[in-house]
Amino acid sequence: MRFHREKTASSIHAFRLLAACLVACLAFVWTSLPARAASLVRDADIEHALSRMAAPLLTASGLGGNVRILLINDRSLNAFVIDSQHIFIHTGMISKMDTPEKLQAVIAHEAAHIANGHIARRMANINSARSLAGLGMALALVAAAASGRGDVAGGVALGIQSSAERQFLAHSRAEEASADQSGVRYMAAAGIDPLGAVQVHEVFAGQELLSVSRQDPYTRSHPLTRDRMRAMQRFVSAYAGKSAPQPEMEYWYERARGKVTAFTNPPNWTLKRAAESNAEDVRLMREAVAYHRLSDRATALNRIDRAIALRPNDAYYYDLKGQILLEGRQFNGAVKAYSRAAELAPGNPLILGGLGRALLTVNRPKEALKHLEKARQRDFRDPRILRDLGSAYAQVGNNGMASLSTAERYALQGRLKDAAIHAKRASGLLPRGSGPWRRAEDIIVAAKRAAQK
Ligand SMILES: [Zn+2]
Repeated sequence: MRFHREKTASSIHAFRLLAACLVACLAFVWTSLPARAASLVRDADIEHALSRMAAPLLTASGLGGNVRILLINDRSLNAFVIDSQHIFIHTGMISKMDTPEKLQAVIAHEAAHIANGHIARRMANINSARSLAGLGMALALVAAAASGRGDVAGGVALGIQSSAERQFLAHSRAEEASADQSGVRYMAAAGIDPLGAVQVHEVFAGQELLSVSRQDPYTRSHPLTRDRMRAMQRFVSAYAGKSAPQPEMEYWYERARGKVTAFTNPPNWTLKRAAESNAEDVRLMREAVAYHRLSDRATALNRIDRAIALRPNDAYYYDLKGQILLEGRQFNGAVKAYSRAAELAPGNPLILGGLGRALLTVNRPKEALKHLEKARQRDFRDPRILRDLGSAYAQVGNNGMASLSTAERYALQGRLKDAAIHAKRASGLLPRGSGPWRRAEDIIVAAKRAAQK
């Protein structure tokens, strides 16, 4: 896991604010959301583990493989949707949900908001959403919120100008009830104990009585009422006794949570608790991360190698080994580890990004470019990949593409003014009418729109 600690942390503050704009329910959220920075956590291993946990629920919902789960580095408890392709979950939520069923209940509920059309319906009513879609939703949302006053600018740029329209964006009580009911149905269909859904409600119970500043953001975006609790208990008792233990889900849950906490809690906390993991390889992975963060590279490598020995075809353990080596400046070893990871998971954009990054450190920009371009085509949401692409293009002398990559990285980070400067440079250098030229023009248009707000 790598957190984007770059000084550009304002990026996901745009996501947060827009999450509030698009999903949160009540007008007060609009104005009271703290403008503190948060960031996306992109980690191939955790995203894979979460996707394994989500898969049976997404199948049951009819959404299939079209929805991705993305993590936000934030200790507060929240999960939300802003479009029909992503479910965002805070790292704090992963730590707090202490059984796979609770975490799956959260995922099922968010999937239900998408499947039941709660997002699509409102997006269709936002005038300029379609014209921004060319940039990709996440990029467009961030771009729209670029001025630093994301709450206001985002709403304006997306055409959400009247308070009536903002109300339209709220998850209504009816939507919450429908998402609860569908979520429980998905869990039951997937053979997962829906009692987890009641337990999630219990975590947040009573918060509606707290002042807004003391509530978890999840309570604000998903208003909980006593009626909702009672209805949930009724759905769940109707499904009682129809679930089976799910050892595979226990494993992926332990793995996702083990890696999240290893990176977010102090290393000594992790070392004390790693032995609680049921799976030996998960214990070793957690220790590897803790020792890596303590800069004890030899022990970190010993632990990850032992985890790999237990799961020799696990791309994600090689990915972690590559990270440990790269950050320890053992560049040739890092190339080797990432190459193996890419052999085992050839389509994973984050792993391809790691391989590209490692190749740049050993001065092989042409090869790096091949992997980084493939990574970007599959996933434009990782600023690191865009930064490395910029370096790779500059190193091979393609200044137009270098400028475009820089422009796209700034746009993704919500820095639209800087993005426009580089996009104009790219537009002047790239063949007029080409795909990359059009991408540069899209950014110029988005920047103009944000500046006009
Ligand atoms: Zn909800």
